[in-house]
Amino acid sequence: VAPPANVSQAQYVGRFAPSPTGPLHFGSLVAALASYVDARHYRGQWLVRIEDLDPPREQVGASKAILGCLEAHHLFWDDEVLLQSQRLDAYADKLEELRLRGLVYPCYCTRKDLVDFNGPYPGICRHRPFRDKPHALRLLTSDLPSTENALPIRASFSDELLGHYHCPQTLGDFILKRKDGLFAYQFAVVVDDIFQGVTHVIRGMDLIDSTPSQIFLFERLSARSPYFGHIPVALNDQQQKLSKQHGALPLISNRSADNLRAALHFLNHPPPPEFTKATQKEILQWAIEHWDRKKIPRENAIPDYR
Ligand SMILES: [Zn+2]
Repeated sequence: VAPPANVSQAQYVGRFAPSPTGPLHFGSLVAALASYVDARHYRGQWLVRIEDLDPPREQVGASKAILGCLEAHHLFWDDEVLLQSQRLDAYADKLEELRLRGLVYPCYCTRKDLVDFNGPYPGICRHRPFRDKPHALRLLTSDLPSTENALPIRASFSDELLGHYHCPQTLGDFILKRKDGLFAYQFAVVVDDIFQGVTHVIRGMDLIDSTPSQIFLFERLSARSPYFGHIPVALNDQQQKLSKQHGALPLISNRSADNLRAALHFLNHPPPPEFTKATQKEILQWAIEHWDRKKIPRENAIPDYR
């Protein structure tokens, strides 16, 4: 298989990065499978990272259940699983690096202060003097007269699957560390992608509007941004993204071959009829061989579990 122009076989590193908020469901299987098959099609590595940064939202045993479920589906990863909860020192170091460069400022705003704004953060705290009270830390992003090293976020990027993509709005001066002391998702993800040498991020469309901010942060950290490709997300019949909160059922591991076929169907790569009785391994081999990025649908959809 010839790799696309920007992929040299030796340099593809993909990843799947679930949060341990519950067991995998059909929607998360689609995301795992797309990133896995894309990586293997281009003979790349595929890593798994557990995004366990937010203890209150986590479910006991979920990390183990997720990894067990990936294995039941024969989605075997390379290297060791990276746990974000073990990476707090790395995040603190990168945050300090940005702070020393004058790119981080404390934000004392409460939810109430921001209730009238529904766009990006309006920069209220950029010039507030430091106060000894709980605060979040934000990344300075746009041009300010007083700050020559700040840059605006570019709202457009070239998506591997969708082509040119323009975000209606960017996140603005987004939070790196929350007021409750937890590192923010947007920040940890970028620090970890740099650390793991991730070159290709294939993930759900629900995350697309944070991509320009993440690309911006890669550049601020003097790292090369990965290529991003966004796949459609599976919806429930109320047109909401399938999620535990919206009642998505956990995957049944002993039906993993059926689950894989349904997920490939969703990605418009239905295995031929003779694969009805195939094993997980055979289905995955077929998918890796026949994977064609151009066939992936561009719209979120309600799955048809055939
Ligand atoms: Zn503020």
